Amino acid sequence: MKKLENKVVVVTGAAMGNGFGIAKVMGKYGAKLVLTDIAPLDDAVNELKKLGYEAMGIHMDVSNSYEVKNGIEKVIEKYGRIDTLVNNAGIIRLGSLLETSDEIRDFHFNVNINGVWNVTKAVMPYMQKERYGRIVNLSSVTGFMVVDKGECAYATTKAAIMGFTRAVAREAAEYNITCNAILPGYILTPMAEQIANESNPSNPDSVIDGIASAVPLGRLGTIEEVGEVAAFLGSDESSYITGTPIVIDGGSTLPETVSVGV
Ligand code: NAD
Repeated sequence: MKKLENKVVVVTGAAMGNGFGIAKVMGKYGAKLVLTDIAPLDDAVNELKKLGYEAMGIHMDVSNSYEVKNGIEKVIEKYGRIDTLVNNAGIIRLGSLLETSDEIRDFHFNVNINGVWNVTKAVMPYMQKERYGRIVNLSSVTGFMVVDKGECAYATTKAAIMGFTRAVAREAAEYNITCNAILPGYILTPMAEQIANESNPSNPDSVIDGIASAVPLGRLGTIEEVGEVAAFLGSDESSYITGTPIVIDGGSTLPETVSVGV
């Protein structure tokens, strides 16, 4: 039996990037996929169906608790339960502390923190009822371990996800629900391309090359590599892991200096 056979999985922000990669890998392992996003989902859902996976799309803005509640109710109407939730939807806008307006700060907080809060809160009663659940949150090495200039708002939110992950893990343990976080380094997604464009609009490729050259494995990660970690944390195989940050960064957080070494 495949490791996610018959598991009902909800992935937020699944129209592209990591969310799509996570859905694709989980489909490979037999999951029934519910993709949610504010962006159109038809292309992503059709691509997964072409691969032979069971998939549906639901428009759901994670920062809107009303839309979230409705979206999760639709999943329950169809499947009766949710086994695994992947809180993947997230945004970034580069800007220093002094450049970042209250609106841009709140945009980060609303999507990246409140979004994870809203969806987890909407799903939790159904997981508690089943006395089973796997919650996987997309944090980042950014904020929790490292940071680049211009990431004040983003780093704050991604570090907050780790606090939320641990708090939920502690509370939900008695219901046989686990909650863990994935901390990616740079993964080649539309978000990474956006960061490259914002950092150097006239030569974004040089930013991507610069990132790759600072990673010991010499490249950015792929959405499928993130998907494999999410599939493991979202499956029965990770049953004794909870409240834990799992780093997937090609070794990017290893170097202590750029000058020492033989
Ligand atoms: P992306 O921008 O490529 O895709 C994000 C998806 O989330 C998009 O489909 C977008 O429409 C959706 N989304 C945005 N706001 C939403 C909202 N309010 N409600 C629902 N969906 C919404 O980003 P990505 O690189 O795939 O990042 C996905 C997650 O991985 C994020 O949480 C991000 O912080 C995290 N992450 C990414 C990287 C990286 O290098 N790409 C590194 C570390 C962590």
